[in-house]
Amino acid sequence: MPVIGLTGNIGSGKSTVARRLKKLGAKIVDADRVAREVVRAGTPALKEIVDNFGPEVLNTDGTLDRKKLGEIVFTDPRARASLNQITHPRIKEAIFQEIKKHRSKESPHRKEVLVIDVPLLFETGFNHDVDEVWVVKINEDKQVKRLAERDALMPDEIRKRLEAQMPQEEKLKYARRVIDNSGELRETEKQVDRHWLDFIKEHFQDAGGI
Ligand code: ATP
Repeated sequence: MPVIGLTGNIGSGKSTVARRLKKLGAKIVDADRVAREVVRAGTPALKEIVDNFGPEVLNTDGTLDRKKLGEIVFTDPRARASLNQITHPRIKEAIFQEIKKHRSKESPHRKEVLVIDVPLLFETGFNHDVDEVWVVKINEDKQVKRLAERDALMPDEIRKRLEAQMPQEEKLKYARRVIDNSGELRETEKQVDRHWLDFIKEHFQDAGGI
């Protein structure tokens, strides 16, 4: 059963596109959710984070203070590398297991598509484990505006986060399909619907049965 790797820069609209794909029938694995699961209270990953960054990155209830940790790693590339060393292998393994499980399902009657929504799809090498890479793109002014509204961040904080990522233009070079989310939600949904239909036609011989 085929797998789509969905990616794009911070606040580009990956979750928005994933929600639409779910409505169309896809199964979604959200890397942000997996990332939260691997560092939940009591996990070996959280212990390693505290050993590295100190107990001040914990909330009083023992869970990870993600905002505090975010502030540290987004301004310090070495700290970011240390955090990635702790979390990335675990996130990768969990997602890889989801892909493996999905690929082993071979049902002639049910056509199932797995979408992995992974912001660091290229950086983690998952682009090689999927059948197609889909990239959500957005113009930078819109991106800054939406992130400011959603996360109450200042424009310079947002730009710092953007600079820490692989440039959008680079991601677009490797995209099989591109969704431009700079416009109205309805416009984005129309693009997703069209790509989905094309994908189904190309990946399932009997495209009528999904
Ligand atoms: P992150 O990288 O932080 O996980 P994301 O790529 O998943 O973000 P979304 O959360 O889907 O991006 O979108 C970012 C914000 O922009 C959200 O608040 C969302 O509601 C809003 N948004 C997304 N698409 C549109 C759109 N077409 N029109 C208006 N607002 C939008």
